[in-house]
Amino acid sequence: MVGARATRRKEPPAPTRVVSVHAHPDDQEFTVAGTLAKWARAGSHIVTVCLTSGEAGSNHATPADMTRERLVKIREEEQRAACRVLGIAEVLFLGYEDGILQPSIALRRDLTRAIRRHRPHAVVCGDPTTRFYGTRYLNHPDHRVAADVALDAVFPSAETRFIFPELLDEGLEPHHVREVWLHGAERADTFVDIAGVLDVKIRALREHRSQMGDWDPSAMIRGWARQQGARRRLGAAEAFRRMVFQD
Ligand SMILES: [Zn+2]
Repeated sequence: MVGARATRRKEPPAPTRVVSVHAHPDDQEFTVAGTLAKWARAGSHIVTVCLTSGEAGSNHATPADMTRERLVKIREEEQRAACRVLGIAEVLFLGYEDGILQPSIALRRDLTRAIRRHRPHAVVCGDPTTRFYGTRYLNHPDHRVAADVALDAVFPSAETRFIFPELLDEGLEPHHVREVWLHGAERADTFVDIAGVLDVKIRALREHRSQMGDWDPSAMIRGWARQQGARRRLGAAEAFRRMVFQD
């Protein structure tokens, strides 16, 4: 039994190809950037998909003369810079409106297109069932929608030939995703040791200058990593609920 438990708790290998789906620029850096940095260093090809460009911004960190159009440009550039720090090859912005994201069929089609085009072994996204984080935070509705649509695109849309037949006309054949990694899950079962890339995660997060302002996020990020790590006797970790699908 000890052996079985040890096997179950062993960190899974880095997936070869990954699509990382998020509602806003900076979501990825707060949540899963350590894992992605580690995978990128192990040779994974990673594509980040941002459903919005974060133009609703953040009230306290945004100067008074800021416009939504300027903020789009700034935040997209910040996300690209963060991805460069992490070693992520490509960033896609789907251009949906920040703050009022809907689980529409158009969004599901756009994400299905991205998955069929990039053909990931694993999709990383949030947990759509997470309504609350503890007793102090409500999950943002855009985060729930992003997670919901990501899973709906993984199954059944990406792998079913006659869902979105227009994608076949674009030359995009069905694709079966093998794994999903949900961050922010209440029942996490997989822990990635990020001690060796914690500084990279913090550096990537700091690229989101319009959101950080003068705030230094490192104490909070280190605190979270320590907390998750303590659940598996690791110094620093990110936690996931991982699902593995049959062929
Ligand atoms: Zn967000």
